[in-house]
Amino acid sequence: MTKNSVVILPGDGIGPEVMGEVAKIIHFLNQNGETDIAIIDDCIGGAAIDKHSVPLADSTLAQCRKADCVLLGAVGGPKWDKVDYNIRPEAGLLKLRKELELFANLRPAIVFDALVGASTLKEEIVRGLDILIVRELTGGVYFGEPRGITDLGNGQRRGVNTQVYTTSEIHRVGRVAFELARKRGKKVTSCEKANVMESGKLWREDITALHAADYADVTLDHMYADNCAMQLLRNPRQFDVIVTDNLFGDILSDEAAMLTGSLGMLPSASLGARDAHGKQPALYEPVHGSAPDIAGQGKANPLAAILSFAMALRYSFDRGDLADALEAAVQSVLNAGTRTADIAEKTSKTVTTAQMGDAVITAFEGALKRKAA
Ligand code: NAD
Repeated sequence: MTKNSVVILPGDGIGPEVMGEVAKIIHFLNQNGETDIAIIDDCIGGAAIDKHSVPLADSTLAQCRKADCVLLGAVGGPKWDKVDYNIRPEAGLLKLRKELELFANLRPAIVFDALVGASTLKEEIVRGLDILIVRELTGGVYFGEPRGITDLGNGQRRGVNTQVYTTSEIHRVGRVAFELARKRGKKVTSCEKANVMESGKLWREDITALHAADYADVTLDHMYADNCAMQLLRNPRQFDVIVTDNLFGDILSDEAAMLTGSLGMLPSASLGARDAHGKQPALYEPVHGSAPDIAGQGKANPLAAILSFAMALRYSFDRGDLADALEAAVQSVLNAGTRTADIAEKTSKTVTTAQMGDAVITAFEGALKRKAA
């Protein structure tokens, strides 16, 4: 078996607690001969400011470049609220994404049967929901030039940001979406505002051309981003993979996430371009933050971090079988009524972060035995 490596950056607040449960799962897989993953522990965010006076040390970045992927908890907290803006904890995360050129952000929105009541939408609309939003992460209006605020000298100021995309930026994120759709429901919905924006018109034309050239086996639909925002609430199950730009993706992925109703359940992945040897930079992290209000109390839900690791198994280690089994284990733990406080219901058994991790490992062991039989 090939020796693999991951860098674990627990970060701050509940980060170390939830990543502790991920490390337990990696040890379990290694002990059972399913994987041979070496864990390199390092720090980011506030923890790195305390240790290195910067939120991401060069030595940490070098480790992240070498490893197969990075697993991150969350950064930030009141302790570092007053540090210089350029070295705030979040700057470490932004630098990591930028340095690894992670241009595709994957945000699944899955409604587990046992948690269908947690959504604010009606059960019949969200039951069985399993969609994936692919957001372009390194281009568009958040990075375009010119940008800035200028003083017009007459008591007025002008704020400018530029929405800009090139064909290669559109094609590389489009490829990620089409490839992922091939492994799922074989349908991509591409969202922009081609009706009012030239960058949207280019996006639509380039995605259409890419589809015709290389992905005709996948169904492609186009949708205006505002309509997509409505359709996500009206009939979210019509979607399989949604691909969109940085700005619309920011909004649509948060909207889709909330269809599932629980922040402690939401995983994410950010992927870069494969090099000539097939190595692809990748960062996996829960969507939630460092939750300082519950940090250190054993209350944090580790499932978002665990489901992020399932994505790592699928995309970085090509072990879709283990990812499926781990997700099935999470599903069965929830079905059994085991819950951390954030997703507790009247009839459920409330457990700590560590107990939830243990319950997932027990169920995972069962799922692996069934797979082997
Ligand atoms: P948050 O996601 O940390 O918390 C929002 C609410 O959800 C809190 O009530 C928290 O207790 C709860 N929550 C979050 N994750 C949970 C989990 N796994 N289990 C149970 N409950 C959970 O967002 P916030 O309060 O706006 O931000 C707190 C800090 O986190 C800030 O410093 C912020 O900058 C940072 N942050 C970091 C990231 C990241 O690292 N990617 C993302 C968002 C916020």
